[in-house]
Amino acid sequence: MSPRPDLGPKPRLGYANSRIERTAEWRRDTTAFEQDPQARTYAIGGEMVMLKNTAVGLDPLFTVAEARRFEGTAETVFLGLMHGAPRFAVALNARTITALQARNDFTIVDLRSIAVRGLLDAEHLPPLGEGKALLNWHERHRFCPNCGAPTQPVEAGWRRDCPACTLQHFPRTDPVAIMLAIDGERCVLGRSHRFQPGMWSCLPGYVEPGEAIEDAVRRETREEAGILCGRVAYFASQPWPFPTSLMVGCHAEALSREIVIDRAELDDARWFKREEVALMLARQHPDGFTAPQPVAIAYHIIRAWVEDGVAFA
Ligand SMILES: [Zn+2]
Repeated sequence: MSPRPDLGPKPRLGYANSRIERTAEWRRDTTAFEQDPQARTYAIGGEMVMLKNTAVGLDPLFTVAEARRFEGTAETVFLGLMHGAPRFAVALNARTITALQARNDFTIVDLRSIAVRGLLDAEHLPPLGEGKALLNWHERHRFCPNCGAPTQPVEAGWRRDCPACTLQHFPRTDPVAIMLAIDGERCVLGRSHRFQPGMWSCLPGYVEPGEAIEDAVRRETREEAGILCGRVAYFASQPWPFPTSLMVGCHAEALSREIVIDRAELDDARWFKREEVALMLARQHPDGFTAPQPVAIAYHIIRAWVEDGVAFA
């Protein structure tokens, strides 16, 4: 086997390492922040983000007044302070997004494409993810799940209150375990039905109510690939605003060898040797197999094992 390819410096994980200082203590009244001349907002409609076309490239920041002048704006949420400057996110409805797509002074593009194609400075990805996830929650929680009455946003978008039954509702984050099961020099990678040809990745699955992350790792690996796992080592986490997930990256110690695929969940799953996975990360695999893009935590989970191995406690 040829020497392992040099993967270069470790790339930045997308949507993580936010520079936003959330300043939750100021959420009760953000009027002064809105009036701050440095205040800017992102404009987000569902999956889509609105960018200004400028002479020096794409700009995702609008003044709050500018963004609210678009028809069909809904909630404005306060994200926090970025380098001392207030940052908000304004929701645009689908009809407005469609209308604005016809204009040549804006580029309207989905957040995944912004991240994968590097359309903006990486510093914008965490606040865009924060705004997108929070606005998605508002869109889906207009009515109280307890009594059905319309709810009202408070705390600069960080809570919705029900005036009828007085319950307070908080934005949710849905944890997803994403794991690499390993056995010495081999690991299990799978293919989802929606993957592009040749791409293989870690297995993911939602953590269920009442379940520890470690148990979710073991259950999902067994259900999807038939592999029993023992020890689980936490690696890192990543906000994944599609729509409101938190990816919890883990390595797991495989205890069994035979793969049994749940075809409803996976297109395929198989064992890969470490050297082969290194070629996939470097995009040099002879069969054209690839690993996920560095924007996703799966790349980092896989690369950590390839380069450093995993020590289970
Ligand atoms: Zn209620």
